[in-house]
Amino acid sequence: MLAIRKQDLEDVLQHVRSEVSHEGCGILGGRDCRVLRVYRMSNIEDSSDRYFMDIGELAAAIQDLYHEDLDIVGIYHSHVCGPAYPSPLDVERAYYPDACYVIISLADPENPDIRGFRIREGTIRKEQILLE
Ligand SMILES: [Zn+2]
Repeated sequence: MLAIRKQDLEDVLQHVRSEVSHEGCGILGGRDCRVLRVYRMSNIEDSSDRYFMDIGELAAAIQDLYHEDLDIVGIYHSHVCGPAYPSPLDVERAYYPDACYVIISLADPENPDIRGFRIREGTIRKEQILLE
């Protein structure tokens, strides 16, 4: 389970919608499976079907989390056309077994599909997202 406040989810949606032609991505910082902070990251792949976070931005976010005594509770990214389900590359690059992977499908721009997954050692498990 990952709990996220409405305004934080709005922030995430606003971010990924602003990335018109490529996947938007970011870090969800928090504690005890509860999102307390959203970090928007740049997608250095600049691609419509994959993402890789800017290492410098990621390092700055991790430093901030460390100072605030927070963890990476989630990692979000958008699928511009595809379904809200991890791609083979998402599974391959799932470096954070303790994070909830939040995928936002913008295939239907009016109704973004938001789903959470736990990806451990190549296994995908659905994770509930609780809106607070
Ligand atoms: Zn993906």
